[in-house]
Amino acid sequence: MGGFAKEVATVENEADLQELFALLEPERKWFVLGGGSNVIFPDGDVDTLIVKLAPSGIALDSDNGDEVIVGAGGGTVWDDVVAYCVEHNFCGIEALSAIPGSAGATPVQNVGAYGTEIKDVLISLEAFDVFERTIVTFSNSECGFGYRDSLFKREGRGRYIITKITLRLHRGDARVPNYPGVAEYFAANNISSPTLADIRNAITTIRWTKLPDPRLIASVGSFFKNVFVSVEQAEKLKKEFPGLKSFPVNDGTVKIPAGALLDLAGFKGKRFGNLSFYKNNALVIVNEGGATRSELVDLIKNVTLRVHDLFGVELESEPEMIS
Ligand SMILES: Cc1cc2nc3c(=O)[nH]c(=O)nc-3n(C[C@H](O)[C@H](O)[C@H](O)COP(=O)(O)OP(=O)(O)OC[C@H]3O[C@@H](n4cnc5c(N)ncnc54)[C@H](O)[C@@H]3O)c2cc1C
Repeated sequence: MGGFAKEVATVENEADLQELFALLEPERKWFVLGGGSNVIFPDGDVDTLIVKLAPSGIALDSDNGDEVIVGAGGGTVWDDVVAYCVEHNFCGIEALSAIPGSAGATPVQNVGAYGTEIKDVLISLEAFDVFERTIVTFSNSECGFGYRDSLFKREGRGRYIITKITLRLHRGDARVPNYPGVAEYFAANNISSPTLADIRNAITTIRWTKLPDPRLIASVGSFFKNVFVSVEQAEKLKKEFPGLKSFPVNDGTVKIPAGALLDLAGFKGKRFGNLSFYKNNALVIVNEGGATRSELVDLIKNVTLRVHDLFGVELESEPEMIS
């Protein structure tokens, strides 16, 4: 969806970043693009300069037996990092298998799946500070992580280019994600003591039944963030909609999956022009071919209004719209 970028700069290291930003006129708009799996381009030509990091690999930074420290370059494919760790029996990110995109993008929206978020394992990251023209280090607590959120999506947007992430992982027993689909997968495959590789296989298999393969069908994965409401509001909603799924959260709020709201609202599998809500997962909007961004923007507006009218909650989009 959307037009083509007129200019793309691929950078390999800090020297390239220094050179690029020294050359760039101050008013020139730029945008750092990873795998492009969570962004939506505008229709027509894109004047914004697209900055891409070349893949720079994965390294074992330290190993003390039980605990290992793994570093990955910002442009490295995230699932290659997961594959490397599972292969070497390093536990901690197997639940984040098969999330498309680059390692450098994972802290931006604090990627998460099956009970794990990148913030659970990230020790620190390095980023090129475009304002100061130097590499800076952020500790985990300095990243301002939240649900699908971080400093890099807020005040740090347009300032930092994440060039390296450093993760703390461990050897030993892997934690099996406590999700019905995972248990069903192991039962169906007669696996009673899942290994790390079994967990990765389970997550990857389950994900591709619920999500369209981005190499074949265009989507940005989950389009809307889950909704968090007060206990009172959740009870009221459940009375009105008895089938509605909800999950209490430690902070005293209740999580309502956005997909469940869209499902109840009847969007699953429905087609609107060139766009549709994926047949296996209402949370995923699919470009059936030829969809424009303005078509998408109209659809989001209508869906958000409908969900608000029905449930009294506000849906928030997850992907970023490039201007
Ligand atoms: C089929 C599918 C399934 C998905 N499943 C999940 C899921 O389970 N959980 C989840 O959390 N997300 C999921 N996503 C969303 C997406 O995969 C993640 O957000 C991913 O981290 C985006 O990576 P990317 O490299 O493609 O980033 P892009 O889409 O290219 O960019 C996303 C944002 O990150 C910024 N960015 C990218 N690289 C850098 C960098 N090096 N430094 C600073 N900023 C940067 C961009 O400027 C942009 O703001 C899914 C997407 C798809 C298509």
